Amino acid sequence: MTGMMKTETLAEGQQMGHLANPREIVDYNFDVAARSLGLSESQKGLLKEPFREIKVKLPVRMDDGTVRIFQGYRVQHNGARGPFKGGIRYSPDVNEHEVRALAEAMTWKTALANIPFGGAKGGVNCDPLRLSQGELERLTRKFIANIRHVLGPMRDIPAPDMGTNPQVMAWIFDEYSSRQGYSPACVTGKPVELGGSVGRNRATGRGVVTVLAEHLREFGLALDGLRVVVQGFGNVGSSAAQLLADQGAEIIAVGDIFGAIRGQDGRGLPVQELAAHTKREGSVVGFPKGVPIDAEDLLLLDCDVLIPAASECVLHAGNADRVRAKIIAEAANLPTTPEADEILERNRVSILPDILTNSGGVIVSYFEWVQNLQQKSWDELTVRKELRQRLVETYRDVSHLASHHGKTLRQMAYSMAIERVLRAEEQRGA
Ligand code: GLU
Repeated sequence: MTGMMKTETLAEGQQMGHLANPREIVDYNFDVAARSLGLSESQKGLLKEPFREIKVKLPVRMDDGTVRIFQGYRVQHNGARGPFKGGIRYSPDVNEHEVRALAEAMTWKTALANIPFGGAKGGVNCDPLRLSQGELERLTRKFIANIRHVLGPMRDIPAPDMGTNPQVMAWIFDEYSSRQGYSPACVTGKPVELGGSVGRNRATGRGVVTVLAEHLREFGLALDGLRVVVQGFGNVGSSAAQLLADQGAEIIAVGDIFGAIRGQDGRGLPVQELAAHTKREGSVVGFPKGVPIDAEDLLLLDCDVLIPAASECVLHAGNADRVRAKIIAEAANLPTTPEADEILERNRVSILPDILTNSGGVIVSYFEWVQNLQQKSWDELTVRKELRQRLVETYRDVSHLASHHGKTLRQMAYSMAIERVLRAEEQRGA
């Protein structure tokens, strides 16, 4: 059932007809950093090439008795610094190119955060909103059964990503443990009752707010009174919005895959109520205290901070020039294409890069793994304190070195991460 995925060249990838895809984004960011670090071709190959790529067939019995075939992917990009680490995504758009790009982004994210993991990503091409709980459970169990030989607390540790949640992680934990013996550290983002860490569910959103606050502090500014637009109101977007509102920011508009809304009479949205509405209805659309707006206009609203918290490539050559936000805090992975990056830099928009800004999730995943291995549990205050300390330190290092070397935060973050992985690769030897 398992097999290696075909390795494509960049040229082939570009011929796929997309103007921008996630792969181009990581390739471009890597190349810029590699050039400034003066990496040789062989060093680049060592860092770029994925360690292992798996594609599995997943026949799943549906509730109506028929069998549907799904495709599952797991890409382990680099494991020089520790076990592979990264989420599992359930989305109709999942494909091997996307998973590969996201796996590589995890390598740089864990290295920048300086946690002892490599990078991986997994996914299944399904629409979780159209599957019953029973179908989702059977799909998850089949996927894990088929890739379990490359997983494990010291090999590769999955976590939630788009379309998955603590319940899916609980099934992963159970499926893996029922075959290999009790192994809570085999997956993170579990429900707290099963060894999940307190604070993991909101960790990515909390991290986004922490990095943003630290960036503002550099300019003597605070979150209070900030006008924020959030694209994506899933786990990450809604947590970030709530934490920002708690600290006095105004969430002036939000959107999800079904549509977008802004507050009434130019005021901010009541985020708590909006979160309750979204939980009930499955979308921000129809919120009685919001005014519907065009989803594409959401990214172009006049605001202080834009938080893309949905999918890749949403800021591109076609809209970047019309973005009016002063700061972009990348809560999603790979939301900005290289062309957009250049345009936004030219327009003096500050970009807080994804591998730093959304790393709160994987950092608390690391705390969860540590707690599971030690059979201990931390309290929420400890989790928050440790998370904050790590993020603030990393932000300050990146920001300081970026201004010293005349680089953007993204260029500096990639350079630091790549250097760390290269050192580990070279120390371990060929
Ligand atoms: N899926 C999240 C990310 O993209 C979390 C990964 C993890 O916790 O391993 O960073």
